[in-house]
Amino acid sequence: MMSYGYDPKLSQGAVKCPIFQTSTFMFNSAEEGKAFFELAYGLREKGPSEEMGLIYSRLNNPDLEILENRLTLWDKAEDAAVFESGMSAISTALLEFLSPGDLLVHSGPLYGGTDHFIHHVLTKFGIQSLGFKAGTTEETLIKQIEAHPNGDRFKMMLIETPANPTNSLIDIEMCARIAKRFTKEEKVVVAVDNTYMGPLWQHPIQHGADLVLYSATKYIGGHSDVVAGACLGSSELITRIKTLRTFLGNMAGPWTGWLLMRSLETLKIRMEQQAINAKIIADYLLNHPKVEHVYYLGFISKEDPVEYDIRQRQYESDGAMISFDVRGGEKEAFAFLNNLTLIKLAVSLGGTESLAEHPATMTHADVDPEDRRVLSITEKLVRLSIGVENADDLIWDIEQALEKV
Ligand code: PLP
Repeated sequence: MMSYGYDPKLSQGAVKCPIFQTSTFMFNSAEEGKAFFELAYGLREKGPSEEMGLIYSRLNNPDLEILENRLTLWDKAEDAAVFESGMSAISTALLEFLSPGDLLVHSGPLYGGTDHFIHHVLTKFGIQSLGFKAGTTEETLIKQIEAHPNGDRFKMMLIETPANPTNSLIDIEMCARIAKRFTKEEKVVVAVDNTYMGPLWQHPIQHGADLVLYSATKYIGGHSDVVAGACLGSSELITRIKTLRTFLGNMAGPWTGWLLMRSLETLKIRMEQQAINAKIIADYLLNHPKVEHVYYLGFISKEDPVEYDIRQRQYESDGAMISFDVRGGEKEAFAFLNNLTLIKLAVSLGGTESLAEHPATMTHADVDPEDRRVLSITEKLVRLSIGVENADDLIWDIEQALEKV
């Protein structure tokens, strides 16, 4: 994460990749400019030893290219595309692989913004959706897709696992099998929003997914000071995504790219400390009399063999996201949130500082109320994103806030 893809000799010996704050790049000759554009617009195949050159910062920029190359390493992806937000990565991927009349199958719950895009924006383009909950069996989901009026136009699957905010798990291998079963001439694309696990703890491509999506605002950025997104996958699929990105113009800028490269250097140590802290907090919450239920990967037991099996196969950590039901309802949840002093009452996650929020009225306020009920996003649910602070301080804060409930 410190040197891959960057050659100091090309930048006056600068040890760190500078910020290439330029909108456009000079060609050495008109012929070179012509050749770069032919490749950028897919007008011909790249020659065996040919390298794509820099053209214009809406198409490419060294800060983005080096960052994209580094991101591919975590997920063992062939290529990556970076965006100015997680939502732009998600919406661009959905728009690229879905056309009017197509069916998108998605897991639930999904992050509220993604849910909104599917149910209020894609519908304007005649794109249908079919949601399913964690625990839905392969046979049931296949039957539901077959029974859907647009089932023969099933083109894409989007899953969020662990799901925001309930940490429920979806089996990526099962989704890949279903996608394969329905693939005709055109591949049914399986995309996994891996934001909750960052690039460290879950590697969807190795479980059969085609695309990995990130809100890089979260663990990748990691300091709550940048909004960004990423999409990773095969060269073929990412070339399509990058082409649409060029015309939507929603690529990240060089400053964002530079910030994320800086963040990647500490990604592993940050996330590992966050997971250590999260386990301490989750254990504390589990036994607290004012806490009714804790949603945390570490508490998935063998009594739920299906979820336990997914946990063992798919994850390398229990993560650093915890949700819990406070005994009572919105009043009690708000009392807890209003009395926190160290943990900040704010949406977002994955940063060095711990954050707490109320999904039902904040991040998931726009989700259909009946869907919220079915998916356990109730008024008593609080979501915590655990940071790198001293765990004793976090426990102290949680303890004193729960006392006031
Ligand atoms: N996916 C998940 C799981 C999220 O939690 C979020 C934001 O909270 C997003 C996507 C959207 O990302 P961004 O806010 O960077 O657009």
